[in-house]
Amino acid sequence: MQIAVISGKGGTGKSSISAAFATLSDKVVLADCDVDAANLYILFNPTHEEEQVYISGQKAEIDYTLCTNCGLCASYCRFDAISLVNEKITISDILCDGCKLCSRICPTEAISMIDSNDSRMFAGTFRNGKMVYGRLAPGEDNSGKLVNIVRDKAKEIAKAENIDTIIIDGPPGIGCPMISTITGVDSVVIVTEPTLSGKHDLERTIEITSKFNLKTWVIINKFDLNEDMTLEIENYCRGIDIAIAGKLGFDPQVVQAMVNCKSIPEWIPNSTISKQIREIFENIKN
Ligand code: SF4
Ligand code: SF4
Repeated sequence: MQIAVISGKGGTGKSSISAAFATLSDKVVLADCDVDAANLYILFNPTHEEEQVYISGQKAEIDYTLCTNCGLCASYCRFDAISLVNEKITISDILCDGCKLCSRICPTEAISMIDSNDSRMFAGTFRNGKMVYGRLAPGEDNSGKLVNIVRDKAKEIAKAENIDTIIIDGPPGIGCPMISTITGVDSVVIVTEPTLSGKHDLERTIEITSKFNLKTWVIINKFDLNEDMTLEIENYCRGIDIAIAGKLGFDPQVVQAMVNCKSIPEWIPNSTISKQIREIFENIKN
């Protein structure tokens, strides 16, 4: 079964919960689809068994043997990616959107488009099974496509290794990468926190997930930091028939677990929070 863990915004504890789920089964495939800021590989230090270049798009590049420094390309670029640096026309890799306009209007044909090939998909083995993750290079886009590549590889490995459970750590937000993350999964777990912005982001996330007709669960993390807001979130979920998978209290040991490159159940196996996460995971799986 495929379980996707997402959140409407960053900082809710989504990755801590994905990591915890990944260490509660004997064998899982863990897919880190937070490709803009993958971090579970730091926690789990997987072996490096496979690496695939991901072409996220194209960038403009100037051949200075042909460029006359006329400045025409800079005046046309709508993304402000071209400017004069030390009297020399220069293209910013970060700002270039790959629209190709400059390459078409350059009078000396000095600009060509080259593939952006700094992003990668990696696969390997970690202590609880197999792990796949994507890393999108800074300034590169099309992260939804990279999420699909990571998910396809995770499914391929699960099939080859006869592994039943795929845990997907999704990206924060409600854009294209999140949609790529949840499409076709068996369960979506939305991690939220008891703040006004947390509730607002949860509502926006559920608006999207409800269109996919997926079994959806909510975890309220650090619920004891604002019990009134927790109650509001619970009432909201009850009103729209979304199951609360569980509530987790604030525990400073969660950060310590991360600092020590352990999941919560690995770091504090007999704690209340680990027991609660175990119950939540069993509930979702069954
Ligand atoms: S339009 Fe072409 S020739 Fe003119 S500055 Fe740009 S790259 Fe150089
Ligand atoms: S390809 Fe488009 S975005 Fe990139 S530098 Fe040229 S005009 Fe600007």
